[in-house]
Amino acid sequence: MPVWRREILADETHLFGAPADSGLLRIALLFPNAYELGMANLALQGLYRLLSARPEVLVERAFYPAIPEEGRAHDGTLRSLEHDTALGAFDVIAITSSFELDWLNIPAALHDGGVEPFADERGLDEPLVIIGGPAVTSNPLPLAPFADALFVGEVEPVFEAMVQALLDPEDAPGRLAEVPGFLVPSEEPQSVERVALDDLDTVPTTTAVLTPRSEFPDTFLIETGRGCPRGCRFCLAREIYHPVRSRSAESVLNSARLGLEFTERVGLVGAAVADHPQIQEIAAEIVAMGGRVSTSSLRAEGVTPELMAALAGSGQRTITLAPETADAELAAAIGKRVSFDAVRTAIFLAADAGVTEVKLYFLVGIPDETDAAALKIADYVEALEREFSSVRFTVSIGVLSPKPHTELERVAVPDPSAVGRRLKKLRGALTSRTKAQVTLASPRWAAVQTALGRGGPELAPVIAASAGKGPGGFGDAMRAAGLSLDDYLAEQSGPAPWEIVGECRLMGAGE
Ligand code: SF4
Repeated sequence: MPVWRREILADETHLFGAPADSGLLRIALLFPNAYELGMANLALQGLYRLLSARPEVLVERAFYPAIPEEGRAHDGTLRSLEHDTALGAFDVIAITSSFELDWLNIPAALHDGGVEPFADERGLDEPLVIIGGPAVTSNPLPLAPFADALFVGEVEPVFEAMVQALLDPEDAPGRLAEVPGFLVPSEEPQSVERVALDDLDTVPTTTAVLTPRSEFPDTFLIETGRGCPRGCRFCLAREIYHPVRSRSAESVLNSARLGLEFTERVGLVGAAVADHPQIQEIAAEIVAMGGRVSTSSLRAEGVTPELMAALAGSGQRTITLAPETADAELAAAIGKRVSFDAVRTAIFLAADAGVTEVKLYFLVGIPDETDAAALKIADYVEALEREFSSVRFTVSIGVLSPKPHTELERVAVPDPSAVGRRLKKLRGALTSRTKAQVTLASPRWAAVQTALGRGGPELAPVIAASAGKGPGGFGDAMRAAGLSLDDYLAEQSGPAPWEIVGECRLMGAGE
């Protein structure tokens, strides 16, 4: 049964005032994936809140695939959620992208919205297309042929300058090119600074629209910090959100107070939530205010009796830990130094507080990994199950996709079929020796992700030809473009496309 646009709108609560009906500057905020994921995304929520607060701006959201309209046969057109307007009727399409694989939806979404996907073929009467988000901050160049402007970093410090530039219909790209963090491909720039907000308290990032249809249903999400002080050599979040910044407890609790007027569920979000210096006080205070608090993945060493008491007291029955590997040498290779004892202690504290389910994240496809090293994951889970018989374990096995700007940015990754065979053996060992529920990532999709993350503008025709066609379709499009997926999986040398992203520029809001 399709969920109609009317039903989605009826279920939404706008926390910062009703959406506008008109505005001088009409912006479609496009999330290149499903509504449920977009509404759980703080980048989308934060940008929607900032844009909605501007009296001269009309902002409407759009998601891909399109949300159906009751009583109208689906005609393939991508329209906005709020007023059912085709994307082509807006002045600006602002796209926020968190994952490289969502890029495959961008040209398709523009096309379905009545907008020419390639910037140099777009007419002057068509919307200006701006693309940003974490995946673009990592490597903007594969999307350059689709964009009139790309944005690298955190938008809050340059938000005002961006709106002013967009209000000038004559020369918006030229004016954006002057704003830190913006890359205007037609101007053939050589580098771009990554913009970061200096004080997170000045622009609190939270849910702006609550809905039970989010991946985090009716949960008021609050960003507690950006960056991570840990040294994982594969971690993109650590690099693109550097330097480490925390929102003050006072600011987080002020946001929580507001959110609790609409829902009892509060979700604390950040790369390193448990590293927040006042996380225990924050969690305990939200519980004292009548809230139920949950967190994203926790660092094992950050699990304390007080934090677990607050989380379990809120009804949280699941915690997520990410040991990533069970082999000491591989742990050193990826810089993930979370000891088995730290994980045991965390689970002990969690179980003691009432947690009944533990999700464990591991990675395969690490350079120099052998089958024997990967299979140690089964020993690891088996040992935990033996010790914690009251806990249900869920094991999620991801495939390493080396990210730009990280210490592993140039390493060779194993062939997807070799990773697939290793995953099969690991699943066999886990299912025969443990009761854990096991989910495996797709090595073929991980290979596509690696190629996208490492590529340049030459991938644009491949991206445009691959929507909805699976990893096999991506491979076919690579061959048709005269490219080889293997070249992107091999060890990288020479200048890399993502080196266009230069130093971090720390700025105040509205500087
Ligand atoms: S602890 Fe998590 S967020 Fe921090 S660097 Fe490691 S993987 Fe990244």
